[in-house]
Amino acid sequence: MSNNLRFEVVHEAFKKHAVDVVPPSARPSEFFGELVFDREKMFKYLDRKTYDALIDCIDNGKQMDRQIADKVAAGMKTWALEHGVTHCCHWFQPLTETTAQKHDSFMEYDWKGGMIEEFEGKSLFQQEPDASSFPSGGIRATFEARGYTAWDPTSPVFIYDDCLCIPTIFISYTGEALDYKAPLKKSIKVVSDAALAICKMFDKRVRKIQCNLGWEQEYFLVDDGLYAARPDLIACGRTLLGHASAKNQQMDDHYFGQIPTRVQAFMKDLEIEGHRLGIPMKTRHNEVAPNQFECAPIFGECNLANDQNMLLMGLMKQVARRHGFRVLLHEKPFEGINGSGKHNNWSLSTDTGVILLAPGKDPMSNLQFITFFVNSLVAVKRHGSLLKASIASATNAYRLGANEAPPAIISAFLGKTMTDVLRQLLNVPNDTDIVIAGKHAYNTGLVEIPEIFLDNTDRNRTSPFAFTGNRFEFRAVGSKANCAGAMTVLNAAMAEQLIDFKAAVDAEMAKGTPMKEAFMATLKPLIAEIIDTVCFDGNGYAKAWEEEARRRGLDVERCVPKMFLENTKPESVALYEKLGIFTAAELQARNEVKWETYSKLVQIEARTLGDLAINHIIPAATNYQSTLLRNVTMLKSLFPNEWETLAAPEIAIIRKISGYNAEIKEKVDVMVAKRKVANKIADDYEHAMAYYEIAELLTGIRKPIDKLEEIVDDTLWPMPKYRELLWIR
Ligand code: ADP
Ligand code: MG
Repeated sequence: MSNNLRFEVVHEAFKKHAVDVVPPSARPSEFFGELVFDREKMFKYLDRKTYDALIDCIDNGKQMDRQIADKVAAGMKTWALEHGVTHCCHWFQPLTETTAQKHDSFMEYDWKGGMIEEFEGKSLFQQEPDASSFPSGGIRATFEARGYTAWDPTSPVFIYDDCLCIPTIFISYTGEALDYKAPLKKSIKVVSDAALAICKMFDKRVRKIQCNLGWEQEYFLVDDGLYAARPDLIACGRTLLGHASAKNQQMDDHYFGQIPTRVQAFMKDLEIEGHRLGIPMKTRHNEVAPNQFECAPIFGECNLANDQNMLLMGLMKQVARRHGFRVLLHEKPFEGINGSGKHNNWSLSTDTGVILLAPGKDPMSNLQFITFFVNSLVAVKRHGSLLKASIASATNAYRLGANEAPPAIISAFLGKTMTDVLRQLLNVPNDTDIVIAGKHAYNTGLVEIPEIFLDNTDRNRTSPFAFTGNRFEFRAVGSKANCAGAMTVLNAAMAEQLIDFKAAVDAEMAKGTPMKEAFMATLKPLIAEIIDTVCFDGNGYAKAWEEEARRRGLDVERCVPKMFLENTKPESVALYEKLGIFTAAELQARNEVKWETYSKLVQIEARTLGDLAINHIIPAATNYQSTLLRNVTMLKSLFPNEWETLAAPEIAIIRKISGYNAEIKEKVDVMVAKRKVANKIADDYEHAMAYYEIAELLTGIRKPIDKLEEIVDDTLWPMPKYRELLWIR
């Protein structure tokens, strides 16, 4: 059966390709952003006063009055109608990890017997989706069922199909964040302000700091027909069973290999859609595992870049279907081959064009670089557990620590160059200059950074947090996650660190120490704190690293529900409250959501696997066993003297099948019994801990199933196998 399974599930509705909308001769620069109400459109569709007020609102957070809001909405409506738009929606990011939207038509009675298209400022600014259907933890019970969405003017409105989409934050009536965007924006503000205070000491002209995010999105594609025949992919987004394919990634022939034609057509379509929506898609390539791919845009402002990632993930799913594919964003869709992550390239930069995590041209700009570099590492060291909690999920747990992804220990990779620079800094006088090698007249008493540094940073795939020349790359983020979770923690940790650092420098300078010496004096103990703790350039996959990390006092916890406990520890609450990012109540509520989500995901997997084992696998195996038994019976009647020898191979398989069937049944029964117990637990954390134990049972059930796959007749196997799922033809 598995050989001729090809469902025709590509419906006509999916066949409208972006490549058909955009003329083949058009260049991306010509249609880039055509579906975004960007500054160019604002200028065209708004009068000067309205335009200025909106720009002031975007750039400086100025409040906008009702009349201006109506004018902004009117301009947007004119633009939208020109594109055949009929609806608008508030587009937001609830704690479900996907985006949500409720479409409202522009249509209104004109009270003269007809209809008109209407879109007013109030619809642009605020909507009231029923918050009670979105995960909100304790907030729903303790406060108000209702929540509202409010426009985030810093992220431009865009058109998707026939709908004008308005990026919004989602908060409860009492102001608690029910989404990812609201806290992300707060964290960006605090880290930017904290960085600005330091940058101004180096250059008075700096007026604004931008927090940057450049995400790299990994994903798998599978044939739509084969996907439809895998209940586990449909329900869980990953395979719960499947014997390894004889050929998978061992030949290293997929990474950066030639992109299959069908996949290239998908990528092209996706890029055109992305470009029209203003997503600066830049790279595309095959990843390590078969059927695994990656795309990445040019980095940009963190909040906008994150919106674009959320938008792209939705886009990928839709475009994939037009090409007869399903996209798998799960972190570990297939056992035994690489999983998918979402590398978050993170940096801060000034409005004067300086990237603060890149070496500069002169000693002072290099001191500024070292300051931001070291403080980032201190932030990661002090809040490593929080960072880990931010990327932890039931799905990412299958990838982390699985010997092909960052381990479940947060450490930072600096590379030899920067490790040497830091070690030298520990031992030089405080007035030493930090220079780019070869760019200075004399050669003594200096700390040198080699010039061809950017392209020269060595790579370490085993590190969750790697320095790559002008940014840090947080590689532990899950492929399916909203980047905002991780970025909020990183920004918060960095903000706190920069504020403390500045206070220490100020105190030093108050004693009369010159600026450079004050910075160096403050940096040295920080370098000493990180260099032999969080900084680790070795092999993160090695068993010895776990022991070493434990010795260094790093967090080595692997249990996901336990990781979330970090979020509500007193020091974490203090951090977030001090910076105004989360209240204690919000943190508690969000943890409840995390535990609940964790339990539900494991529950779905456990149910699906139980169903597959009992209703698909055991019957298929028994079916094959019956065939063998019939054969043995016939051998016995035809060859009364030799049958035992002749039937020996079949009898061995018959016995094996009975053995595996019994093992599967017994293990599924244990799992079902555990689920019954777990489901009676009311406390969210305890409930999740019970499901953590259930998650551990899944591999045990899978083993005998995968053994059966090796011996059961291929034509009787009820589902497509890895070798079919993993090779796109
Ligand atoms: P690699 O696979 O080598 O890490 P990619 O080109 O796939 O590199 O992705 C790197 C990502 O990092 C891109 O999105 C890129 O725009 C982004 N990036 C580059 N420089 C910075 C920076 N200073 N800050 C944030 N992101 C950056
Ligand atoms: Mg990268």
